[in-house]
Amino acid sequence: MQKKKLIVIGAGAAGFFCAVNAASQDPELEVILIEKTNKLLSKVRVSGGGRCNVTHACFSISEMIKKYPRGQKFLKQAFHLFFTSDTIDWFDKRNVKLKTEDDGRMFPESNTSETIINCLLQEANKLNVQILMNREIVEIQKISSEENRHYFHLVVKDGLVLEADFICVACGGFHKSQQYAWLTETGHSFESPVPSLFTFNIPKNSISELMGISVENTLVKINGTKFLQTGPILITHWGFSGPAVLKLSAFAAKELAGMNYDFPISINWLGDFNENSLLEKFKLLRHELAAKKMINKNPFNLPLRLWKYHLEQCGINMDIRWADLPAKQQNQLVKQLCAQQFQVKGKTTFKEEFVTAGGIALNEIDANTMQSKIVSHLFFAGEILDVDGITGGFNFQHAWTSAWIAANEITRLNK
Ligand SMILES: Cc1cc2nc3c(=O)[nH]c(=O)nc-3n(C[C@H](O)[C@H](O)[C@H](O)COP(=O)(O)OP(=O)(O)OC[C@H]3O[C@@H](n4cnc5c(N)ncnc54)[C@H](O)[C@@H]3O)c2cc1C
Repeated sequence: MQKKKLIVIGAGAAGFFCAVNAASQDPELEVILIEKTNKLLSKVRVSGGGRCNVTHACFSISEMIKKYPRGQKFLKQAFHLFFTSDTIDWFDKRNVKLKTEDDGRMFPESNTSETIINCLLQEANKLNVQILMNREIVEIQKISSEENRHYFHLVVKDGLVLEADFICVACGGFHKSQQYAWLTETGHSFESPVPSLFTFNIPKNSISELMGISVENTLVKINGTKFLQTGPILITHWGFSGPAVLKLSAFAAKELAGMNYDFPISINWLGDFNENSLLEKFKLLRHELAAKKMINKNPFNLPLRLWKYHLEQCGINMDIRWADLPAKQQNQLVKQLCAQQFQVKGKTTFKEEFVTAGGIALNEIDANTMQSKIVSHLFFAGEILDVDGITGGFNFQHAWTSAWIAANEITRLNK
């Protein structure tokens, strides 16, 4: 009897993971991986600054899903089937040991993404996954849905037509609507794609003279919205980066695109204080540090250059003593430290990791199988789905999870 055929579209993390898991779980399935470029796993190669942040050492599903601005409910179900510990085991069984950094990010012990690439290539080779490169799929045609026989025709850009019994679409994120028309033609809806995980540009602002300075405990707000994030911020030569800014860019990705990346933010440089509690603290400081010069005594452990910048911005004389600080300047400094205002104008790509928010609408996909609810035997995995995570290994974890679930269901259906 002729073997049934699975065609996986896209040779990235999700595509490879689906192909090798399907091939290993069901030797009776013919697995073909199709890639439009002449490169395999190209994002894995550059990921995590060339080290590949494979996953995150988080073992609680309820904590993990908080790291995904879109797709939380969907992943809550999916992570019950394949989670971070499964990823670690999967690679461990193939002699790829992962290590955990202080912030929870997990990388291969070798510190190079080549280890992950070699592992996936070896698996594909061992399991006879056929890989076709330079083939772009431009159309999926459903030919028959007779019981026990589900044929698709996949049209390649050069006119070649391939047959498949199962399809897993793992073609990554798109930036423009015309790129995914071939997918909406299958009957699926697509949440408009917008970039996520970017840094904020603050052009022509003297703060950029402090580039390289980072402050651990800040609170950054997008004025006039509900979006705020706490955490470290990094001053760059173009504006702001760092975890607090990247998280904001992810959670507010759609709204910021709607504002054309022109929006006001306020930064609280002392995340533990608000204006009232800081005013109280100032009363104490003026007493405790009365005879000390303000420039020499920075009681908040802010980087010295930043402390000096704040004093200068408030027109405070560098030689002034704490006891002599006029009330007006004190109030100005409190405001400056707790709610300094900036206008963001534009964004810059974060080179370590960036993703697309948007993709195939999740209400059309079964989170327990990754199968389309519209077209049977059609599956989706990875960034093509309307799921995205913040930086830290969460996007790859979603790719591994969705790809494994799709492979598992495809092999179950083929039994
Ligand atoms: C610079 C950078 C660094 C990153 N670092 C990390 C990190 O360290 N940790 C993390 O968790 N996430 C990281 N990410 C995000 C992560 O890489 C993606 O979320 C993940 O690669 C998505 O995998 P995917 O397989 O769904 O899509 P992709 O990796 O985008 O793969 C899709 C593949 O499909 C192919 N394709 C597209 N259309 C077609 C078609 N019509 N026919 C055939 N083939 C097609 C594409 O050419 C591509 O090879 C990073 C992203 C970038 C850009």
